[in-house]
Amino acid sequence: MSPAVPFLSLKAVTQKYAAEIHGAVDRVVASGRYVQGEENRLFEEAYARYLGVRHAVGVANGLDALALILRAYIELGRLRPGDEVIVPANTYIASILAITENGLVPVLAEPDIATFQIDGTGIESLISPKTRAVMIVHLYGRCAFTEGIAELCRAHKLLLIEDNAQAHGCLYHGRKTGSLGDAAGHSFYPGKNLGALGDAGAVTTDDGELAAVVRSLANYGSSKKYVCPYRGRNSRLDEIQAAVLRVKLAYLDGDNEARRAVAKKYLGGIQNPAIILPNIGEWESHVFHIFPVLAQKRNQLQDYLSGKGIETLIHYPIPPHKQGCYKDWNGLSLPVTEGIHAQELSLPMSPVLQDEEVDAVIGALNQWEGR
Ligand SMILES: *Cc1c(COP(=O)(O)O)cnc(C)c1O
Repeated sequence: MSPAVPFLSLKAVTQKYAAEIHGAVDRVVASGRYVQGEENRLFEEAYARYLGVRHAVGVANGLDALALILRAYIELGRLRPGDEVIVPANTYIASILAITENGLVPVLAEPDIATFQIDGTGIESLISPKTRAVMIVHLYGRCAFTEGIAELCRAHKLLLIEDNAQAHGCLYHGRKTGSLGDAAGHSFYPGKNLGALGDAGAVTTDDGELAAVVRSLANYGSSKKYVCPYRGRNSRLDEIQAAVLRVKLAYLDGDNEARRAVAKKYLGGIQNPAIILPNIGEWESHVFHIFPVLAQKRNQLQDYLSGKGIETLIHYPIPPHKQGCYKDWNGLSLPVTEGIHAQELSLPMSPVLQDEEVDAVIGALNQWEGR
């Protein structure tokens, strides 16, 4: 049986735009062109315009977007294998995988416990002579960019890369996340704020040279057909996903407003000393990909909610430095990160969550006795 209050009903999200999505898919089916066609070009154009950047390159997924940015910087001689990249320790594993797959060295920064985001203080103490880049992650949909971080990057000549997988449409003083650093990787995995009906991603940047190398690397490393200056891979955004994304991009701001309305209800309604609500900052700087709360007895809370038909998730149960794929780091002590992973619980959140569902979650949380 499906839960009374699902964490996220992708079916309902898609249903909302079903007629337009079917129209877009039918158009591609009829076109006979399924990769590298008009839909891709138009989506790239629309997404670049939406973000206020010069270039958007559609790729196969968010991990590839981040990995291709780093690889392109290596090809351009602006990064070298062995260089250090500072990245938040509490991010999703994909941010870290993109760094290590390029032979670069992730340096894990503790986040600020109040915001869950990497901050200037955390970054500054980790800068070494080998540091060449900072990857910020707008985790949970909250903007992680600050003037302080930009200033540090300028002062130390570090590349600033944004992982914008969770924050499409998020603003920093009127500018979109994904347009704030040297380059940004975006994921359009179905569950993200701007989600395709399969895997999809994009790289955005104002740097035309970088965009050209990313485009080439994503297409076997070819500059033109059958001419390959790089050892590339195949990471293209297909036409059906591009067409779906063009439909959904038009509704992204409205969907983010719907998420904010849910967040406002949670923040105004949840009153339980055993549950810590997130510090959300400016409303425009949060698009609530996730609504995270903290509880000492997180696992009990999750079971309790589950018993009431309320589905929650944990983002994330195991931090990257405790994963089996990074055994060398398993002994590292990162108490802030570990604390978040031990206590975080993500409440149901989506643009299609109904008022009664939100009320049911609030009611259940307020009745919880924290045991
Ligand atoms: C989803 C996500 C990614 C990876 O995107 P995929 O499209 O799933 O490859 C990278 N970073 C963060 C923070 C994410 O949430």
